[in-house]
Amino acid sequence: MVTRSASCEDDFDTDSLSCQDALNRILSSVGKRNATENVNIRHALNRNLACPLASPIDVPSHNNSAMDGYAFKHEGTNSDSEIRLRIVGKSLAGKPFLKPVGAGETISIMTGAVMPVGCDTVIMREHVERRGAEIIFDSPSKKGQHVRFAGEDLKIGQQVFEEGTRLTPAEIGLIASLGMPEVPVFEKLRVSYFSTGDELRSIGEPLSHGEIYDSNRYTLYAMLQNIGADIKDLGVVRDNPALIKESLLEASQYSDVVITSGGVSVGDADYIKEVLADIGQIGFWKVAMKPGRPLAFGKIGKSVFFGLPGNPVSVMITFYQFVEPALRKMAGAKQIKAIKIKARAKEDLKKRPGRTEFQRGILSLGKDGHLEVASTGDQGSGILHSMSVADCFIVLPLESGAVERGSEVTIQLLSNLA
Ligand code: AMP
Ligand code: MG
Repeated sequence: MVTRSASCEDDFDTDSLSCQDALNRILSSVGKRNATENVNIRHALNRNLACPLASPIDVPSHNNSAMDGYAFKHEGTNSDSEIRLRIVGKSLAGKPFLKPVGAGETISIMTGAVMPVGCDTVIMREHVERRGAEIIFDSPSKKGQHVRFAGEDLKIGQQVFEEGTRLTPAEIGLIASLGMPEVPVFEKLRVSYFSTGDELRSIGEPLSHGEIYDSNRYTLYAMLQNIGADIKDLGVVRDNPALIKESLLEASQYSDVVITSGGVSVGDADYIKEVLADIGQIGFWKVAMKPGRPLAFGKIGKSVFFGLPGNPVSVMITFYQFVEPALRKMAGAKQIKAIKIKARAKEDLKKRPGRTEFQRGILSLGKDGHLEVASTGDQGSGILHSMSVADCFIVLPLESGAVERGSEVTIQLLSNLA
C-alpha cells in the first residue's frame, strides 16, 4: 500500500487546526507595540488613538438655537390666550445679539446663533404670525424648546474616544470640532512583504511563456494601506533558498511584520519551510479552511512572520482571517467585532465536511425583505475575480456539508474588513 499524506484535496485531516484555534494562537503570541507619536489630524486617517481622548471644551460651547425662529423668556408666555412679543433685535450664527432681552420682548434668531441673556426658549418662524415689529402666537410652548444647551453633546473633560479607536472620517471631523489640530496615535507598524515564485513578473515587465503577473503584492499593498501600515515592498524573490533567506533576514532587520506569499506547500519549489527552519521559530500549520490551508506563522528575530499561500484568493482570505486581526492588535487598535449576519442561500452550495469554507457571495434583498446570498460561481482559489464581484464571504462551518437552496447561512461582510 502506498502511504498518502493529507493534501488540499482531503477534507478531514487530524493534523489541521481550526480557524478559531489558529487565530487564538496567533493573537496570543503577538503584543501591542507601545511607541506613539502626535500627528496632524489630516494625516490621522486609519491610525489608532494612543490614549483616551477627552474634550478640551464644552460642545456646544454656548446655548444656541436649533431652529430659525424667535427667542424669548418662557416665563409669562404660558397662557392659552394670544401672546404678543416685541422684536428688539436679531442673533445670527457668528453674530450674537449682545443686549439682554426683557419680558414682553423677543429677538429673531437663526439656527446655531447664540441665545441672548434673558432667553431660554425658541419658537419656530413657521409657528408665529409676524405683524410689523411684533410676533403673535397662541399655542403655549415648552420651556427650553429648540435650544441646544452648552455642553449638551460633550462636557469639558468628558471622554470622547477610547484608546485604540481607529480614526475614520467621522472621528477626524469630531476631533476637529473640539479644536484639536493634532492627536496622539500609535506609530505605524512597519510591514514588509515579498512574493516568491519563478513564474512571477512584476507589472511593467513583459511576460514569457509560463509566466504570470504577480498580483499578491498589490492586493497586500492595498490591504495594508487600509490598515494604516508603513509598507515596504521587497518585490519578487525567485524560488531559490539562498535568495529567500537573504530577503527574509533583511526584511526582519527593520520590520515589525514580514509577510510572504507562495512557497509554503509541499511542492518541489516550496522553500519557505526549509529556510525558516534555519533562521526562525516558525510553525507550519494546516488550517482546516478552504481556500488557504497551508499557513506559516512565527518569528524571525524580533519580527512576526506570516507565510501565506500563493493563490491570490487564499492570500486575501488568510490575510483577512489571521493577519489583519494580528496587525490590529500589534498596532494598538480595538478589535473589530465580527458581525455575524444570516442570509438565505439563493442556490445549492457545494461543500464537504471537514474544513471551514469562505465562499464568495453576493448579497441582495429578497422580495420578502430577507437577505439572500448568491455564490459568485467557480470557487477556485486562483480566481481573484470572485473576490472582486463578492461583497461578502459565505462562511460555511467545518462540520457542514452541502447547503441546500433556501437554507440559512452565515455571512461576513467584506466592507467590514480592510
Ligand atoms: P505556490 O503556493 O507558490 O505553490 O503557488 C500557488 C499558486 O499561486 C500557483 O499557481 C502560483 O503561480 C500562484 N501564485 C503564487 N504567487 C503568486 C502571486 N504573487 N501572484 C499571483 N499568483 C501567484
Ligand atoms: Mg510557488
